[in-house]
Amino acid sequence: MDTLRADCSRCFALCCVATAFARSADFALDKPAGRACPNLAADFRCGIHTRLRDEGFPGCTVYDCFGAGQQLSQVTFGGRDWRAEPSLRERMFPALAVMRALHELLWYLREAQGFPAARPVRAKLARAFEETEALTRLDAGELLELDVDAHRGRVNPLVLKASELARAGTRGPDHRGGDLLGKRFRKANLRGASLRGALAIGADFTGADLREADVIGADLRGANLSGADLSTSLFLTQSQVDSATGDKRTLLPPRLEIPRHWGAPA
Ligand code: SF4
Repeated sequence: MDTLRADCSRCFALCCVATAFARSADFALDKPAGRACPNLAADFRCGIHTRLRDEGFPGCTVYDCFGAGQQLSQVTFGGRDWRAEPSLRERMFPALAVMRALHELLWYLREAQGFPAARPVRAKLARAFEETEALTRLDAGELLELDVDAHRGRVNPLVLKASELARAGTRGPDHRGGDLLGKRFRKANLRGASLRGALAIGADFTGADLREADVIGADLRGANLSGADLSTSLFLTQSQVDSATGDKRTLLPPRLEIPRHWGAPA
């Protein structure tokens, strides 16, 4: 079992309660943090799971807790749920953001360890992974006191170094943090590019070469990845892929799946 993959069957629907929604193209209603979504059923399942996009909740289909939900539900709180014990809410809900940040870091650290070129920093990456994993075993009170931003600040330079090593032979354009909203990159050579934290909503990457491109934190909502090669993109997550459009020609890393809402080859 991959502890960094969401397993909703072992989670008490924490993302459907703890997080706030603003009515938008992603969510059909406003919901404050700490209040259960009206679509949440008594068994902690989504009542409109198979119709989320049609009902105006595409944001729910792309949310990824990286396994934080089941860690909190089953490990931190030992299988006790917020409905049976409402007193848990006060600690359980705010702890989700902390646990999610830790699990996301673990995901990146694990991936970076797999880069062949990252060998010089692999031992440090492994140590940072162990330290971060230990933090996920803190109790609820300790989690809420944890300065997760400070921990991320210590680990990020290592993740960045691994990225630089992996892109050293193919260094592409630097779009780090760039505003790429709706920009056209059709058939562009973006091999080894940095798109770290780029705002690429609605950008057109049709047929683009994104191998070894670092896309950590890039916002790819509505981006067109049809026919693009992301087979060796760095730090690409399933939720980024799910939030984009593409087709069955799009090449993804083996660990990721073609989303069901993508169409057939053009
Ligand atoms: S619509 Fe479904 S998946 Fe989305 S928050 Fe509500 S219950 Fe959860």
